[in-house]
Amino acid sequence: MADHFGSPLAKPLFGTLAIIGLGLIGSSIARAIRQQKIAQRIVAIDASRDVCERVRALSIADHVTDDIAAGVKDADCVILCVPVGRMGEIAEAMAGHLKHGAIVSDVGSVKTAIVTQVAPHLPSHVSFVPAHPVAGTEYSGPDAGFSTLFLNRWCILTPPDGTSDDAIATVRALWEAMGSNVEVMSPEHHDLVLAVTSHLPHLIAYNIVGTAADLEAVTQSEVIKFSAGGFRDFTRIAASDPIMWRDVFLNNKDAVLEMLGRFSEDLSLLQRAIRFGDGETLFNHFTRTRAIRRSIIETGQDSAAPDFGRHAKDSASQ
Ligand code: NAP
Repeated sequence: MADHFGSPLAKPLFGTLAIIGLGLIGSSIARAIRQQKIAQRIVAIDASRDVCERVRALSIADHVTDDIAAGVKDADCVILCVPVGRMGEIAEAMAGHLKHGAIVSDVGSVKTAIVTQVAPHLPSHVSFVPAHPVAGTEYSGPDAGFSTLFLNRWCILTPPDGTSDDAIATVRALWEAMGSNVEVMSPEHHDLVLAVTSHLPHLIAYNIVGTAADLEAVTQSEVIKFSAGGFRDFTRIAASDPIMWRDVFLNNKDAVLEMLGRFSEDLSLLQRAIRFGDGETLFNHFTRTRAIRRSIIETGQDSAAPDFGRHAKDSASQ
């Protein structure tokens, strides 16, 4: 499997591409777009003066502004890379300034709520193609980004009914040029799949790390000292951005609660097996889950290294 980009595009897909929110994901997109020559000009828009200054210093965009209206007005494509809870207000702020024929996309980790919050604000002369790159790390901000973040990762597109085929094809080409594999599905299906593969694991990690931190019989220094016993891997996930994850749970409530119910029932079965010394149930369960780990490695979605590929920068998948 390739661990670096192929040749840059012979012809850019866009004249001007605007990115709103230059954190981990937005700055990674800027870097990949520049490296792969996907747009002639990159406009970076961020509400934070500090972020704008860092983006200028990193030189990952051609123009940097905190003014949404001015930033989007010439853009052929605008990608919203802000926390899920901010998408609606940004769509409202930019709606009256978008160029005719522009494509609007986003990278939010939840899709149904974003379609509901963003689509009503957009004028009929633009196309909306929501996207979710299933790639990330536990770090935030413009310094955390890197151009190969999306390489060999999946990006899921969830275009609302009636979206033009050309716009969907262009957004697909954008993500493929950044090295991703692309799949199209409904926003509802996306939210259900991601609830089990990403949102629930984060909730479990946040919970277990919180439980360990609150224990009275085991000191915090012991928790940290002996963390290699599985706990360490949870702490990486539980270090993920609190704003991002608060918004994910608030905006994918139904699917997460559904998966949490299933999880609790399955956990009760394991609890029962431990209580009654049912080794066969435990062995069979652990054998089945081991096979899933093997499939993930075989399909190139993680490293087989014994440290979970911890030294690779792109260790988390969200
Ligand atoms: P991040 O590193 O915290 O970056 C978010 C950026 O958006 C920050 O620079 C933030 O500025 C800026 N921002 C916030 N509100 C804004 C506003 N109203 N106008 C303009 N800029 C604004 O977050 P991220 O990890 O890149 O996540 C961004 C999006 O990607 C989220 O929707 C998330 O669900 C999705 N996503 C994340 C991952 C991941 O692993 N992190 C993976 C896939 C998808 P301040 O710092 O000043 O608030």
